[in-house]
Amino acid sequence: MTTITLVQGDITRQSVDAIVNAANSSLLGGGGVDGAIHRRGGPAILEDCQKLRDSRYGKGLPTGQAVATTAGELDADWVIHTVGPVWSSADDRSAQLASCYREALRVADELGARTVAFPAISSGVYGWPMEDAARIAVETVRDTPTAVEEVRFVLFDEAAYGAFARQVG
Ligand code: ADP
Repeated sequence: MTTITLVQGDITRQSVDAIVNAANSSLLGGGGVDGAIHRRGGPAILEDCQKLRDSRYGKGLPTGQAVATTAGELDADWVIHTVGPVWSSADDRSAQLASCYREALRVADELGARTVAFPAISSGVYGWPMEDAARIAVETVRDTPTAVEEVRFVLFDEAAYGAFARQVG
């Protein structure tokens, strides 16, 4: 049974087995959650990401997929990087956003992670409307069979927290 918890705050301050990063496909850094994770986690995470680019993910990590690295100096064992879709009003990319949560949980299960912190993927620079981002996040986690015991959504501001709280009920 997976428990969903909500926290308003900074995902890089969480003590969990795995922290999920809203990465971009280059895996080589960006703003938002990605920038914060690399800043606080130190250079070991970027070194692991570079190794992934030099091997399995020469063209980058495709949207909707997930891959793990060390968590460096973060208070976690792993960072699970996933690439959310950019919001589009013309094109329904909901399946790709759901895939981020499902694939991150699949990687978490492979690692044996029991507590996993997620940001609101795609809801920042990638422009996904928060209410819909929250709905997809919560529905997908509820529908995904996993051995993860706690999924902790870490929401940066009150508006994001409110959107997730309405979904969790
Ligand atoms: P994306 O490119 O997938 O949209 P962002 O990192 O730009 O990813 O934003 C995703 C969400 O994470 C946004 O709601 C943003 O406000 C939030 N966010 C930014 N920094 C942090 C942080 N340090 N901890 C938790 N959430 C964060």
